[in-house]
Amino acid sequence: MIDPFKRNIDYLRVSVTERCNLRCFYCMPEEGIKKKEHNDILRDEDIVNAVKAAVNLGLKKIRLTGGEPLVRRGIYELIKKISNIDGVEEIDLTTNGLLLKNQIKRLKAAGIKRVNLSLDSLKPDVYKAITHSNVSLDYHAIIKELIAHDMLPIKINAVLLNGINDNEVGDFIELANTYDIHVRFIELMPIGHLNFNYNTHFISKAAILERHPALQFEQKHKIAEYYTVPGKNGKIGFINPMSNHFCNQCNRLRLTADGHLKPCLHTNEEISIKHLDFNEMVKTFEKAIHKKPEKHRLNDKQRPIHRSMHKIGG
Ligand code: SAM
Ligand code: SF4
Repeated sequence: MIDPFKRNIDYLRVSVTERCNLRCFYCMPEEGIKKKEHNDILRDEDIVNAVKAAVNLGLKKIRLTGGEPLVRRGIYELIKKISNIDGVEEIDLTTNGLLLKNQIKRLKAAGIKRVNLSLDSLKPDVYKAITHSNVSLDYHAIIKELIAHDMLPIKINAVLLNGINDNEVGDFIELANTYDIHVRFIELMPIGHLNFNYNTHFISKAAILERHPALQFEQKHKIAEYYTVPGKNGKIGFINPMSNHFCNQCNRLRLTADGHLKPCLHTNEEISIKHLDFNEMVKTFEKAIHKKPEKHRLNDKQRPIHRSMHKIGG
């Protein structure tokens, strides 16, 4: 469906849970979240109906996210149900990867086409500090498993945090070139009422490029600008919602785990889809698409975004 600013909205991001097995300090409160009343979180049939309504309006690409989508009970069954919906062309997954090991075959069989893996540090100590956890991720094993199952291109997403992981950019570039995969650096966004100093940890693409002159601009693709090191096959992407917003390319709508459509990640506007029949659901999706703003106002400090990212879906 075309929105009022002539953008073709064909992509739905579905958050399937607010819960997570990590506590990344910029995303989630350290104490975790209150156990949601069962009724607050959309059931499988609600999500399936919502996806059918979206497909009815021409949204055909679905991404499952969260919280951590793989902690939702019955997630593989839900993926199968979504992939059986006529008109769904692709289902992808954004995950922290902790529950991925030895599960890629099952994930692919359920219907997932591609995986974006969130990984902010290659150093175990830094990973633990960022994620407020005591675990580490065997990312080499996961990347190899994804390659073995032909789930390409693999995209690793790292939120760059000044003073914390910005000195690992070279290591991430090497990782991208070792496996010929994409590593995308995401700018930190001031979202939710979390206790971190945004200005201290924000770092821009310009600062990174200055430190890594080997990176050569290759192409702009949708929301990311891609760079490569000449002679190498890895792709280094920059996603810069803050310093260079890509709202004119925005083709997405978001559905939160508690049943709200968000026309824009970066505004507080949301529309409930709970307890609607199918026709009402389609109308509500239409309304949400009509309400997509021309561009976000994240840089406007007077308008903070209330929901933290684990409650939106990234
Ligand atoms: N748990 C899954 C994961 O980490 O991939 C899916 C949900 S997570 C909210 C999706 C993405 O949002 C992650 O890549 C995460 O790093 C990113 N994210 C969360 N809070 C953010 C923030 N304040 N600024 C930029 N990216 C953020
Ligand atoms: Fe969990 Fe993903 Fe948020 Fe980290 S970024 S706390 S892994 S939802």
